[in-house]
Amino acid sequence: MLYEINEKALKLESEGKKIVKLNIGDPDLPTPSEIIEAAYEAMKQGKTKYSSSYGEKKLREKLANVHGVSVDNVVITPGSKWGVFSTMYLLLKGGGNVVIPTPYWTAYELTAKTVGAETKLLKTELDSNWRIDLEALESLIDKETRMIILNNPNNPTSKVIDEKVLEGIVQIANDKGVTILSDEVYADISFVRTKSILEYGGNHIMVSGFSKMFTMTGWRIGYVIANRELIEKITKLNQITFTNVPVFIQEAALKALELHDELTSAIKEEYQERAKIACDILSKAKLEFSKPDAPFYVFPRRRGLDSERFALDLLDDGVAVAPGTAFGDYREHFRISLTVPREDLNTALNKICEALE
Ligand code: PMP
Repeated sequence: MLYEINEKALKLESEGKKIVKLNIGDPDLPTPSEIIEAAYEAMKQGKTKYSSSYGEKKLREKLANVHGVSVDNVVITPGSKWGVFSTMYLLLKGGGNVVIPTPYWTAYELTAKTVGAETKLLKTELDSNWRIDLEALESLIDKETRMIILNNPNNPTSKVIDEKVLEGIVQIANDKGVTILSDEVYADISFVRTKSILEYGGNHIMVSGFSKMFTMTGWRIGYVIANRELIEKITKLNQITFTNVPVFIQEAALKALELHDELTSAIKEEYQERAKIACDILSKAKLEFSKPDAPFYVFPRRRGLDSERFALDLLDDGVAVAPGTAFGDYREHFRISLTVPREDLNTALNKICEALE
């Protein structure tokens, strides 16, 4: 369905129609110029060769420092997507199953299928504030379960997992000997404190990246924090696939971390403002949703809505949204990305409300 929506959007655009794209999570904001300058400087210095498949030591050290782990626990990957894929591949190849709360980022299920693992989906609902039910989680785990995937904050709900619930999930995982893969790619620019899986110790894995934090989606850089054994295995995969993330990109990422507070506070502020605009407009249109805890997405519901039909028809009004069915069994929901300038967001949200009248 996402494909159909994209095709129709492209067709309308080729006919000269403006489409406000609230359907994808690629920020409109430019990559901060300091980051671009750092990449350019590194290129001029000749940092354009093959390098270590672990990633550059300086960047790994910085990340180790930020997350309170040892440098041996960090590997640099081309986007957090490769971090998720390589981890799932290594832990799930050849079978077993993985528990994934929904709504989810589709790549988790597609990756599980690709590596031959079964998925066990655990539905969460707006009515219970997207809370993961611990008993339901426990009952899904069997002797074949190798992994639980958490996405904290979540795409598409922008919900941060309550600390008590997270504690409960870790407890269950530890008791059952199951590894948690926590995708925290939105955590750093979250509006509320997001407790990392790393704060619980144990053998759990954290994946993150620079795409969302520093508006660097196209640079393709992320990282995995895990025990040494897994880091070694991911590095071996890196060696036989892409070798290394370009060194000049790693230098730029290092600069981003050095200027972290200055750069992310402006990005966060802008998203906070957009989230406010979205909440104000959507609540006037009798849409139900949870207030986003983090940037990028709102996942509203309208009872009785067929979001696939709605998303296709809405394109004729010049707005693209993602239907809820792209994130699991959520036909009455649709996802709005806050990744367009405020003015476009305003216009597009008002069109959504009119279409729902
Ligand atoms: N995890 C989640 C939950 C995402 O939404 C995305 C991007 N849409 C990614 C990972 C991948 O991000 P990256 O650009 O770091 O590969």
